[in-house]
Amino acid sequence: QGGDARADLIPRYVRVNALLWTVDKAVQYFISKGFEEHGNPLDSKSSIRRDEHISNLLLFHPSVSFRDEPMLASGKIILQDKASCFPATVLAPPAHDNAHVIDATAAPGNKTTLLSSIMKGQGKLYAFERDKRRFETLVKMLAKAHCSNVEPTNTDFLSVDPLGTTYSRVSHVLLDPSCSGSGIVNRLDHLLETEDENDTNDKEERLQKLAAFQLLMIKHAMKFPAVEKIVYSTCSVHATENEEVVCQALASDEARTGHFVLARRKDVLPTWQRRGLLEKMAGSIENADALVRCMPGEDHTNGFFVSCFVRDRGNSNEIR
Ligand code: SAM
Repeated sequence: QGGDARADLIPRYVRVNALLWTVDKAVQYFISKGFEEHGNPLDSKSSIRRDEHISNLLLFHPSVSFRDEPMLASGKIILQDKASCFPATVLAPPAHDNAHVIDATAAPGNKTTLLSSIMKGQGKLYAFERDKRRFETLVKMLAKAHCSNVEPTNTDFLSVDPLGTTYSRVSHVLLDPSCSGSGIVNRLDHLLETEDENDTNDKEERLQKLAAFQLLMIKHAMKFPAVEKIVYSTCSVHATENEEVVCQALASDEARTGHFVLARRKDVLPTWQRRGLLEKMAGSIENADALVRCMPGEDHTNGFFVSCFVRDRGNSNEIR
């Protein structure tokens, strides 16, 4: 790992909740509180900047505290890392009354609230969360952010029947399942530790278990009959949970019968430079390029991975 992955090298990212506020009004508000819209927020405590990839995202100096900020309490702003905004942005669900979307693993709700705002509060967003306590947090966050089109359910996504009539029109699925969390900056020390052989074996076994679960979740999402787009993301830096899971998903019966392929780079944050690991994508430059990676310390974000499956009914589903 190159670069320095200290949390103080990651700006404080603030997402303006478009359901309640506009980014222009937010900038005006922060200027009235003494911030300036020039300079580099990593150097200057008074600088703010609009993000170049994510609309509605503002950058502040890492030391700026929002603990007592009334706009946080009112749901007008949400503290969300830039990379965590990528999956919903790539999924780009439609904003109309007939839109049906699933967030399969929703709590605490950062991505659900972003999806709801991209949908402009229209249509239906089914949000599943298996863990009871985390589900309660999700429900609170949805209320605070005024996400009126979200239907949260405390259940295991794997127990949801893809062929049930309720979900027969679901066209977009966001899948951000449990992962090792190895990209989260405060948890990065483990990457620097020298591990003995037993530790390494334990770690690999854990990653393999997570990967098997992640693959199961993608394959389940592929069974929904009207699904056209699935975004799979992790906050892991390990290929075992990222490129390797994607390759297994592409080779699965579900992908073959459903004609799922990877969306091309032009539809997956094309201007983001760091892409998937070529050596883990069977040497396919096109498929590696279709993936997005973030390296902590180098990209001013936490470590992250995003992939996007789409149905390509016109093509046989060879791994491209
Ligand atoms: N997308 C969330 C956000 O941006 O706030 C973070 C999701 S977190 C990485 C993964 C979540 O998935 C956890 O809350 C976990 O309890 C939940 N989860 C894991 N397996 C699940 C399953 N089979 N069905 C539903 N939720 C699940």
